[in-house]
Amino acid sequence: MNADLRDRIEIRIGDITRLPVDAIVNAANRSLLGGGGVDGAIHRAAGPELLAECRTLGGCPTGEARITRGYRLPAEYVIHTVGPVYRGDPRDALLLARCYENSLAIAAKRKFDAVAFPAISCGVYGYPMAAACRVAVAAVAEFLAAHRFPRRVIFMLFSEDAGEVYRACIEETA
Ligand code: ADP
Repeated sequence: MNADLRDRIEIRIGDITRLPVDAIVNAANRSLLGGGGVDGAIHRAAGPELLAECRTLGGCPTGEARITRGYRLPAEYVIHTVGPVYRGDPRDALLLARCYENSLAIAAKRKFDAVAFPAISCGVYGYPMAAACRVAVAAVAEFLAAHRFPRRVIFMLFSEDAGEVYRACIEETA
């Protein structure tokens, strides 16, 4: 990864709901009506207005993304994307890559400065962290190399272990 690209990607550990960025990405489910994990944390922190806006969207297919306001979050917007449930076949990586690409395409269109991603599909949806991380880093690096916006992407990991997996993966990415 070249130096310019590396400067645009940051790894942080902590709670994504605390980040004052243009948009945080939610690892949602197809209903967009809330769930557990990071989805539940985002809805709790954003307040009931977020669920009300999500109800107007009519759900979201796996691999696609939708944007709402962030309401009581420090982030101005939430980009909701639906990761694949891990099955262990080649469709997993294609769908996961689409989540990153489609979320970034929304951010690019709106000329966002900073967007933060959780480890989509790596919780309840069962995607092994190391494999998901390779997909995430490759998709983000490819998108940023071709687009001026968003200027920065933050991978917001929930544990030091996850952070280490991401650091190693970025080191290995050409
Ligand atoms: P999925 O259903 O896509 O697997 P989960 O919410 O179950 O989504 O998990 C996705 C990842 O988000 C997991 O690695 C989990 O540890 C992490 N996570 C959970 N809560 C938060 C949070 N508040 N901020 C950042 N990451 C979180």
